[in-house]
Formats: sequence, structure tokens, C-alpha cells
Amino acid sequence: MHLPLIISVLQKRHTLRGHDRLLPEQIQRIQHRKLAELRQFAYSRSGFYQQFHKGLFDKPLGELPSLSKSDYLAHFNEISTDSRLRLHALESYMKQMAVDDLYLGRYWLMSTSGSTGKNAVFVYDKTEWAVALASYMCCNDFAGVKTNFFGKTRLAIIGSKTPWHQSARVGHDMAVRTVPRLRLDATDPVRENIDRLNEFQPTVFVTYPSVMEQILEELRLGRVQFKPLAVLLTAEPSSPALRQEMSARWGVEGFDCYGATETGVIAAECAAHKGLHVRDDLLIVENVDEKNQPVPPGELGSKILVTSLFSRTLPLIRYEITDCVRFSRSRCECGRPYGLIEEIQGRRADFLRFPAPDGSRVTVHPNTFKSLLEPEAVEAWQVIQRSDGLHLRLARPRAGFSPDRLETKIQNELARQGSVSQKISIEIMDEIPRGPTGKLLLIVNQNNTSV
Ligand SMILES: [Zn+2]
Repeated sequence: MHLPLIISVLQKRHTLRGHDRLLPEQIQRIQHRKLAELRQFAYSRSGFYQQFHKGLFDKPLGELPSLSKSDYLAHFNEISTDSRLRLHALESYMKQMAVDDLYLGRYWLMSTSGSTGKNAVFVYDKTEWAVALASYMCCNDFAGVKTNFFGKTRLAIIGSKTPWHQSARVGHDMAVRTVPRLRLDATDPVRENIDRLNEFQPTVFVTYPSVMEQILEELRLGRVQFKPLAVLLTAEPSSPALRQEMSARWGVEGFDCYGATETGVIAAECAAHKGLHVRDDLLIVENVDEKNQPVPPGELGSKILVTSLFSRTLPLIRYEITDCVRFSRSRCECGRPYGLIEEIQGRRADFLRFPAPDGSRVTVHPNTFKSLLEPEAVEAWQVIQRSDGLHLRLARPRAGFSPDRLETKIQNELARQGSVSQKISIEIMDEIPRGPTGKLLLIVNQNNTSV
């Protein structure tokens, strides 16, 4: 990590830790002040917000229009407060980008396809990125995991190693020479990853719940010979059953950390396991229904509207994230002054199972398909597993797309992960039909015999 960045991250983390001891009213005052600063900045520097909030500059937050991801992309250049940031140029740059590249020497770029299947680019300057990194460090604090910088902490991450993925950038920038660290890719065969973890013996382990389910399967087979102090579960909500099984069978506690590429950490679980504490000191998170009407604690909303109080490069005010969450009616016994989310639905990354030549089954993470299909489809993709093989849907493939080449790539990758060859069919569509909740399902399992 660059020295100025680490100093900035540690300062921000110190400030965030101080907020844990405040009263809820004091956090509200911080929100109020930071929101006024954000709006003032956006109205003076962003041509988009000058129009989007025209006539509403003095209205409360709840009366402002929400910003969808497609609005964000359509108006990216006008939302930006730096006229050098142009979406098309950023997209081209990211295709060649290495994990430590800074755009114009000062911007951290990252992208996500998220649950809607559409790529979006997000930009952080040094101050914003230091806040986001500090928010990730605080997930360890919430879980009661102390980082020892002199060899006792051994950190292992199974996530994405794609350079534009936030987990890759967090993993890279949080690297401290004195903390041994192992970064593995979720798309590699689970048994290879477990061999490397058994050798590395991590004390802190960060991964996706869907990967953790694969690891629990291997635990049942006696292949797992490492036992961290804690596991941080990111990117997808975990089920209570998963965490119960982790502690009952493995003796390891799991902690949910709910973040988004757009905002950094949104909420994280503490040792009381009563829900996830919302980062009310960095964000304003509104739980709303389809019509943007507030949803009270105890009820499940349709989406959240997130205002990122520290965003300046591309201010995010009432930005829509289509996860369904339920806020808790009660406060947590740990005494932290933040609101609590007790349930998150959505973002569930289903992995697929395929037969292996020896009659056992291999599980393949959805990121495998993401990395194979995203370079081919301009708009969106979907993988459907049926009893007779895989059916792929691609919306608007790129020029020069070759179905034969894609099929070969997929067969090679499945073979590498230990699966027998699959029958593959490819369907080209203008638009992929959405699932019952309106979301585009990236992975659909219609193969009842394999689950
Ligand atoms: Zn708590």
C-alpha cells in the first residue's frame, strides 16, 4: 500500500471507531451536517444535479428523486465533478487496467455487473477510497478480530482477482508487508483452493457465502485442515443455517459484511449476531417500497436508496440498490449507535454442480461464467442449467462473436474444474426476460436432479 494512502486509511478508521461510542442522536447530527455539505458540493459542481434537483435544493432528502443505475450510467459525464472523467474513455481504459493503476494518476476505478447484469463504472479519489478501505477494516473491528501487524494475523481471501473488481482492489491496497496474505480466486477449483488454505493456515478468512458452502461440503469429507478465528462473509447475504453450521461443525464464527462497489461497506455484523450495523456515519440508507415510499422497521422493503455522504467525484444521492432488506425494530446489545439490518435478500449467487468423471460432483462458482460471458455480451447474459446440459442466453453479442469459440472456452474451463463435458446450446436474444421479482437472474438452475 502507498504510505500516504495507509496513513489516510488509518486516520479515517480512527475517526470511524470513535463513532462507535456516540449516541444515535449524535450520529444523526453528523448525517445532517454531511448531507448539507454533499448537496452544496453537488449543486455547485455537478451539472446533472443542478438540473435533477432543480427547484428542490431546500427540500428534505425524502422529497428528492432517486437515481437508478441506468440513470447513473446515462448521465455519468454530467454527474461527474471532474470534466476529465468520461464514461467511454474509462471503459476502454479498464479493459487494459492493472490492479495498481490509477487513472490520471489519481483515480481508483472499479466496475461491477451486479445483479442487473449491466456493467457500471465507479470512481474514487484518494480521500474517498481511504474512507471505503477504512469501512472494510472496521468490519474486522465489528467482528472482534484484531489485526496483529507482526506475523500473528494471517489473512486469506477467496474472491475475485479481476483487476476492476472491488475485492481485488481492496485486497491489493490493504496489503501490508508484515501481514502474510493469500489471495485466491473463487473461480478456481475448490479443492485446489483448500489445499492452499491448508498449507497457509489463515487466522482470518474472507470469502463469499457460496464459496463457504463449498468449503463446508469439503469439511464434511474431511479435507479441510485449517480453522481461522473468524470468517468474514461478503458480497452475498449468508443464511443463518450456513453460519450455524459453521459454528456447530467447524467451531468458527461467520460475520456478514454487506458492501457495494458504489459505496464501500453498507453494514456489518458485530459479535452479538443480532443483525448488521448500518454505516450511518458514512451513508444514509433509506428502506423503500417499489414507489419509493418509506418501509418501517420490521418490514421487508423492495430496494434501498443510498446517499453516500463522502462521495464527491460522482456524488450519489438516493442511489437505488435493488436489494430487499428488513431493518430491525430493536437496537443491538453491543451499544453501537447505528441502525440494524436483520435480513437481506437478493444477490444470492447460485453456483452450479456438475458430474465429475469419478462419479462425485464439482461445484462451479458463478464468477466462472461471469468472466467467460461478460467479454462476449454487450448487454447481459444468463446461464440455465437443465438436465440435458447448459443453455446460454446472450443479449447483443459483441462484433466477431463466435459460438464455437465460446463453447470451447466453456468446455475447457469446466474440464479444468474437474467436470465432465456438457452439452451446450447458445441462444442470441435482444433482451433477456427478467425473473418474477423484476431482476435479471444470471444463473438459473432447472436441473432438479443435481441439487
Ligand atoms: Zn452490535
